Amino acid sequence: MVSDAGSYAPVPSDLVRRAPKVLLHDHLDGGLRPETIIDLARTDGYDGLPSTDPEELRTWFVEAASSGSLERYLETFAHTVAVTQTADALRRVAREAAEDLAADGVVYAEVRFAPELHIEKGLDEHQIVEEVLAGFAEGQRLAESAGNPIRIGVLLTAIRTATHSRRIAELAVEYRDQGVVGFDIAGAEAGFPPTRHLDAFEYLRRENAHFTIHAGEAFGLPSIWEALQWCGADRLGHGVRIVDDIEIAPDGEPILGRLAAYVRDCRIPLEMCPSSNVQTGAAESIDHHPIGLLRRLGFRVTVNTDNRLMSDTSMTHEMELLSEAFGYGLDDLQWFAVNAMKSAFVPFDERLAIINGRIKPEYDSLRAVLAERLTERA
Ligand SMILES: [Zn+2]
Repeated sequence: MVSDAGSYAPVPSDLVRRAPKVLLHDHLDGGLRPETIIDLARTDGYDGLPSTDPEELRTWFVEAASSGSLERYLETFAHTVAVTQTADALRRVAREAAEDLAADGVVYAEVRFAPELHIEKGLDEHQIVEEVLAGFAEGQRLAESAGNPIRIGVLLTAIRTATHSRRIAELAVEYRDQGVVGFDIAGAEAGFPPTRHLDAFEYLRRENAHFTIHAGEAFGLPSIWEALQWCGADRLGHGVRIVDDIEIAPDGEPILGRLAAYVRDCRIPLEMCPSSNVQTGAAESIDHHPIGLLRRLGFRVTVNTDNRLMSDTSMTHEMELLSEAFGYGLDDLQWFAVNAMKSAFVPFDERLAIINGRIKPEYDSLRAVLAERLTERA
């Protein structure tokens, strides 16, 4: 075998797609297929869509989400939420999300959604959670029979600007044995510190439950500090602004502040979403994304999609972008997958089974495939 197959970059596209990938940060209402949105709008009599042509609609979502205007960004979610107010719609989008992720080579995914956004047509939050879980179960069965087995865990999201976080946390605990693996809090960061929801976090800790908090995306270090030291988050959603606590000395040596050191020492997982971060201005470009520095410094970095529809992305695409920008090879891609799997909210034995039963052997065989191609070329 050619010894440098593991570090050869950029990794060929077909191999990135086949490589087992692990996704911890993906929003259900940010990952609908354009065709499905149009279909659901028709069935539901929703006439607010900017286009009923799938390709035009796909482009509209990306442009609106990249426009730099918060109103247009939020409008994209107004449409996906408007068409997911019925049992059938919720079940369908969950099923399709599982199928799309599996076809993209994702072997484990945590997908999150906010039950309180789907009550407009009278569904109650229990029904909403049950329909989404049923959709994921169907999608996992279909993926398995298509030869792409995937395991999906659900996170229930509470909205930062609302006051229902304790109720959603209770719902997450109620469904913890039926496929819900954790809790999250999302929404506008500035002016809405996570400490507003301490009651929910304290309840989850008493219940030995897991949670992540969107922090350090639009807003800086205080938000990350509160999420960890006041709320007790297991992971950070994005967390890109942790680089504000890392100084580069004149000799090029990085100096970590106390918070950055804590995050690294305690192996706090960072759910980084490169394309989404560039779109919202949390990072300047993929080439300048803090992920390069943080990976070099050995932070517990994971790679994620955030909103596949709004960013027109997939796990394969995110990995390809990073492979090109930072020269990552298969060894690095495996490191990201193992890091994410170690940080998952499913039980330890399930994590190990995926790391040892899928990630490691499948990367080994991909390195062999690449080595053979490189030898043929030489
Ligand atoms: Zn997010």
